[in-house]
Amino acid sequence: MTPLPDPSQATLSVWGGEFDRNFWERATQLPIVQSVSFGYRDVDQWVAVALGQQPGHIYGRNTNPTVHAFEEKMRLLEGAEAATSFASGMAAISNTFFALLKPGDRIVSVKDSYGGTAKLFAEFLPQIGIFTSLCETSNHEAIEQEIARGCTLLYVESPTNPTLKVHDVKRLAAAAHAAGALVVVDNTFATPINTRPISLGADLVVHSATKYLGGHEDAMGGVACGREDLVRRIYHYREITGAALAPMSAYLLLRGLKTLHLRVACQNESALRIAKFLAAHPAVMRVEYPGLPSHTGHEIAKRQMTGFGGLLSFSLKGGWDAVKTFLPRLTYAHCAASLGGVQTLVGPPATTSHVECTAEERMALGIPEGLVRYSVGIEDSNDLIADLTQALPK
Ligand SMILES: *Cc1c(COP(=O)(O)O)cnc(C)c1O
Repeated sequence: MTPLPDPSQATLSVWGGEFDRNFWERATQLPIVQSVSFGYRDVDQWVAVALGQQPGHIYGRNTNPTVHAFEEKMRLLEGAEAATSFASGMAAISNTFFALLKPGDRIVSVKDSYGGTAKLFAEFLPQIGIFTSLCETSNHEAIEQEIARGCTLLYVESPTNPTLKVHDVKRLAAAAHAAGALVVVDNTFATPINTRPISLGADLVVHSATKYLGGHEDAMGGVACGREDLVRRIYHYREITGAALAPMSAYLLLRGLKTLHLRVACQNESALRIAKFLAAHPAVMRVEYPGLPSHTGHEIAKRQMTGFGGLLSFSLKGGWDAVKTFLPRLTYAHCAASLGGVQTLVGPPATTSHVECTAEERMALGIPEGLVRYSVGIEDSNDLIADLTQALPK
């Protein structure tokens, strides 16, 4: 089966990667193929598959049918030429760097990157002579100036973690391409429902599939989508170094992706309501949400995003002590790391986005200790607001 022209994101969420209905025994659902290897009676065919001259699978570290369907769904949702998957988001991000960069290359990025990515910049990439300039996150002029000083790869997240700053991907991609640099965007927070970075000029999009893509907090995974020549190099690095996505996880991610458009639409709507509620609450000092006109990235977000996303962060007037009393009083929120699930998840950066960093490192990155990150689930927003009302200081 081939898709009709121009299917929408909703249709691709359901059917992407699963148009071929010749599943085993005419099953309506894609099987979880746990087999590590695939057999051939015809040795010539076996050789042709091994050489990539014919479609087929050889060994699970390279390819697998269930994993392939996940890659194909993501490729279609991101509007990319190619996609390759990983055991986690950090595997996708680190394999992208290690496959594409060499000693002497220079990355330009920003201070507010995901904690694990910030560790790659600070600790592991310098060990092999790859250095990163970290710019002030919201200062587009500063980022452009840094790119113009020489840059192999521009790396941004939009919106950022945990303060939801928004990058003008089109503008920064143009500056990077003018300097001959590659553009990589971590699209974990926006998802392809709210932003499609490739349409804005990104060469590659990376994701932690563990978050919104899977959406149920029960599977880890990552994916890199984009230009075919780049994805082929990243795939080759991954097939040798081995951070392959497991078939069971691929199945859970595919199952989660079928409702991505519904979940994200609901989370966009609820998060905007909750952000407005919190902004008007006397115990709240500040709310960070791209959908609020007071937010620094609001104008860019209006242009670039279909919805403003399901994440927000806020600080309490009572500081860290108030946070410690507030969090355990919430009923409809797990106090836990991670984000993007069907259940509301809440926590301070010290135990969530920036658990990898020391207090000094968080301070240097401009992340206040009294901040609360709130990942809105798909519960009724009236119930979430009632819960926040009873838990916030009177
Ligand atoms: C969680 C996350 C990652 C890392 O993904 P894992 O699946 O935990 O390895 C990378 N980037 C962002 C923005 C994230 O939220």
